[in-house]
Amino acid sequence: MKFLFRLLAGPVLGLVLTACAHVSPPHSPTAASAARTAPTPLLLISIDGYRYDYLDRGLSPTLAALARDGVHAQSMQPSFPSLTFPNHYTLVTGLRPDHHGIVHNSMRDPALGSFSLSNREAVGDGRWWAQGTPLWETADQQGLRTATMFWPGSEAAIRGHHPDLWKPYDGNVTAAQRVDQVLGWLDLPAAQRPAFLTLYFDTVDHAGHDFGPDSPQVNEALRDTDAAMARLVAGLRQRHLLEHINIITLADHGMAEVPPGHTVLMDALIPLDHVQKVTMGVLAGFNPKPGYDFAAIEAQLEQPQQHMQCWDKTRVPARLAYGHNPRVPQLLCLADVGWTISTQAYLDSRSRDHMAPKRGEHGYDNADPRMQAVFVAHGPAFRDGVRFHAFSNVDVYPLMAHLLGITPAPNDGDYAAVKGMLVPAAR
Ligand code: AMP
Ligand code: ZN
Ligand code: ZN
Repeated sequence: MKFLFRLLAGPVLGLVLTACAHVSPPHSPTAASAARTAPTPLLLISIDGYRYDYLDRGLSPTLAALARDGVHAQSMQPSFPSLTFPNHYTLVTGLRPDHHGIVHNSMRDPALGSFSLSNREAVGDGRWWAQGTPLWETADQQGLRTATMFWPGSEAAIRGHHPDLWKPYDGNVTAAQRVDQVLGWLDLPAAQRPAFLTLYFDTVDHAGHDFGPDSPQVNEALRDTDAAMARLVAGLRQRHLLEHINIITLADHGMAEVPPGHTVLMDALIPLDHVQKVTMGVLAGFNPKPGYDFAAIEAQLEQPQQHMQCWDKTRVPARLAYGHNPRVPQLLCLADVGWTISTQAYLDSRSRDHMAPKRGEHGYDNADPRMQAVFVAHGPAFRDGVRFHAFSNVDVYPLMAHLLGITPAPNDGDYAAVKGMLVPAAR
């Protein structure tokens, strides 16, 4: 049976099964898609907050083995701000956050109101995501099936499109269950089997925030996540798929230690009730409030500050590629790495609730070494045992479009920057 599956697992089975009407996929039934030969499947795995150098700790043997037999980048640079939602959407659109519109984990839009990670209604509203075109939408239009075992944006109908198979985000789904779901999707008959899949793990990020990047808890999360990776690799090997699937494992950003007391108190600097506060934390954002002199507040904050730097959105340094989007607040304050921006009132409320201060953060300047992410790629398209130079995360999207054989949507990435990862036959 296994042998039969292996024999039929490739394009042949795809052609045979897509020709049968009763197994036609629900919403890509065009003649073009039915005739299309399925490419080698591509699995994109995000380990949230897996800093590039965590791999050197010796706690991720499965990922290290994939790196040894594949391509391991020195590091991958996130886009600014180095936050979860902006960067996950960059990875699947190839657009900088300023261009795809998910400019922060928390944001405001004049027409749409407020967005935050915990606001399920906003996260599921396609209008927030529609400035970018995710890879699953483009793949679907070009006849491929897609599946996301969690990915920011997948829960929204973007121009009416979800991935063919997707799950509403639920942090309680264990890493093993997520892996088993991906394996289950790969077991589908060829006509339904996705060509592009995602898989998302979050405990490394959580431990990094709660205990800091150098904590035993992060090390524990690294071990746990690697156990899930081992389960995946074993499942693929058992299906004789390990050498027939391209797997990209990466992170959205790194993590920096925040020592206790490293807080810039904004309420000690400006009258906070004179502005509309959009975000606090690593990247604080403020908009004018009617009746108050915003220019004076800007002038004050744009003076040199201790442990942070503030700019009007039109004066953000060009290398951060940030500030043109209407969703970016008018005034931005970026904490120095290892610091956060808050208020005394907020600190008091957290201590009243016995909540420990966060010991790790990201969202900082995307050039800082501590914000750099891991990147490992393995599979038939990738070279063996190659140490690749550092590159930008906007380049992942054109790489994936190339691997899937689809025409990418306009993007900020550059396939030429990453094609050296591929074996010549796959370029
Ligand atoms: P942050 O560290 O603030 O940038 O946010 C990261 C957190 O976002 C993760 O640790 C997850 O718990 C959460 N998260 C990840 N994906 C989703 C999603 N699709 N919907 C809601 N929350 C998510
Ligand atoms: Zn993240
Ligand atoms: Zn985080």
